[in-house]
Amino acid sequence: MDKKQRAKQIIEILHETYPDVETTLDATSAWELLVGGILASQCTDERVNKITPHLFAAYPTIADMAEADVADIENIIRACGIYRNKAKAIKGSAEIITEEHGSQVPRTREQLMELPGVGRKIANLMLGDAFGEQAVVVDTHCARISRLLGMTAEKDPAKIEGELEAVLPPDSYTDWGHFMVFHGRTICKARCRDCVACPLRQLCAYGSQQNLEGKEAGDCV
Ligand code: SF4
Repeated sequence: MDKKQRAKQIIEILHETYPDVETTLDATSAWELLVGGILASQCTDERVNKITPHLFAAYPTIADMAEADVADIENIIRACGIYRNKAKAIKGSAEIITEEHGSQVPRTREQLMELPGVGRKIANLMLGDAFGEQAVVVDTHCARISRLLGMTAEKDPAKIEGELEAVLPPDSYTDWGHFMVFHGRTICKARCRDCVACPLRQLCAYGSQQNLEGKEAGDCV
């Protein structure tokens, strides 16, 4: 079976396994998702979701955030790490969006990546989850599990993205990123791959090569 066929079958199984996949960042608008994406760098989504309600209560609009005192933003987001850089990035993004984009979050990857604190990963998150386009978010789960599955051998996120785009059905780029996060949190954990319980085992380059004799579901492989 070639990679494309394997990818198609893997996606079918993942749809059955995780039927309601979506981003785990809480957001009611493109702007809120963008801020959540900036805050999520080196921080868990759970923690970000606890912080953002306070931040958006203090600064309800993009214009409010552009006018905010950066020290106040720092105080609110302090718990999510590298908060000085993140506060600067959030305020800077708000300024650019109000001044250059008519207070609308831009919708192209290029324009998104011109915002401070926004790299390719966040830009793709925005394209897929805020604007309904197809884009693979290559985070640590996606990179690691895509390699284990044998979909790529690359380490560089942009190269991984390119290889995945070449083998995944074009309408599943966004879902793939979500699936990898859910799978990485439940079955294919970084420190404990539960290959025995994994519904992808037969299709997985790593899992299909393991000798699982004597292993049970829940054992790390
Ligand atoms: S078979 Fe094992 S390595 Fe492959 S995806 Fe499943 S848990 Fe991960």
